[in-house]
Amino acid sequence: MGNGILSEMVRQELETYTEELYGFRRDLHRYPEPSGKEEITSAKIKEKLESYGYDVRIIGGTGLYTELKGIKEGPVIILRADIDALPIEEKSSYPYPSEHKGFMHACGHDVHTTALLGAARFLSAHRDSLAGTVRFVFQNAEEQGHGSKYFLAERVTDGAERVYGFHVSPHVRLGNILITEGADLASCDSMKIRLYGKSSHIARPHLGNDVSVCAADIVIHLRALAGGLDPLTPALIGIGRISSGTGWNIISDYGEIEGTVRTFSVEQREMLIRSVEEVINRVSTLYGVRAETEFELNAGCLINDAGAYATAYQASADTVGEAGVTVKHTPFGFTADDFSEFSKEVPGCFIHVGTAIDDREDTKVSLHSPDLYITDEAVTIGSELLIRCALEHLETK
Ligand SMILES: [Zn+2]
Ligand SMILES: [Zn+2]
Repeated sequence: MGNGILSEMVRQELETYTEELYGFRRDLHRYPEPSGKEEITSAKIKEKLESYGYDVRIIGGTGLYTELKGIKEGPVIILRADIDALPIEEKSSYPYPSEHKGFMHACGHDVHTTALLGAARFLSAHRDSLAGTVRFVFQNAEEQGHGSKYFLAERVTDGAERVYGFHVSPHVRLGNILITEGADLASCDSMKIRLYGKSSHIARPHLGNDVSVCAADIVIHLRALAGGLDPLTPALIGIGRISSGTGWNIISDYGEIEGTVRTFSVEQREMLIRSVEEVINRVSTLYGVRAETEFELNAGCLINDAGAYATAYQASADTVGEAGVTVKHTPFGFTADDFSEFSKEVPGCFIHVGTAIDDREDTKVSLHSPDLYITDEAVTIGSELLIRCALEHLETK
């Protein structure tokens, strides 16, 4: 148990403002805004934080940053949440569905945001008992993988000892928490390949450089490349889109392939991107086709630090009980989160808070599904978890 008396008060005190938090979450859920356009969301968070006595700084247009200095000197830690929604038409059974047509909080960031606000409220009320500083990051544009960059450019990680954050998970039961020891989420880089060939009549293939066949061959070779990697170090090459040509009887002179490369280590990420480029160049040369490959480096691999993991484990056990905590020694999955950009700078731990309810199928569909339902309870669990991470670290230093 961290931080004695304070630690014992967490749940009881959170309960006194549960309704306020749930109300805030429902309002966020009703008015989702996509990456980079979280203007109303940002204004609501700012107002709340100011009502708790915080000075708020806007970062990256719609992201928010604030900090709480305890009464005594001590370590500096960061608690991070993300605030953006997705361009998805909601089909859920929420009693408070999206009123912003075409957009939905389908990744649970409304829960993360509200949970962090709950933590900000609790910790500010107990500033007099805290030794150290808690920095609060309400990051925008997570879904596009670049919101973290605004915060890193503002050096919010300077001098910090730890960073903690959580994500709701429909793959873990409500009331349970899952933590990964080591690599948790994959790096996520997207690629766009442009292919330039030479058009001809389909009956005169010898006069053209066929982009359609070249594109098909590139995809097969990328599959072969993925299949030839060390099976003990998971990595993924995925192709999501191919387009080529203008008609059935014309040899295509232009095509595009889009996909992703995902890995769990910095070295493998670099190696695989190089290999993918090499395969594309070699195959396209065979067809006399010119290839331009463009990689967009989004989130890096998310690797939990051993020390931060230990603190997060204790905080999780204090929140849901030891029996409710599952430890995983292999990665959580090939999805990504740019929490990784913070935890690259500062030792960190990303925690998965369960939201699946046994007899409710819509709580078990994957994140980004238009049907996904996440119960309000996740807010209080997440909030308690973040508070306990802070209390654990500020005390155990
Ligand atoms: Zn998402
Ligand atoms: Zn998310």
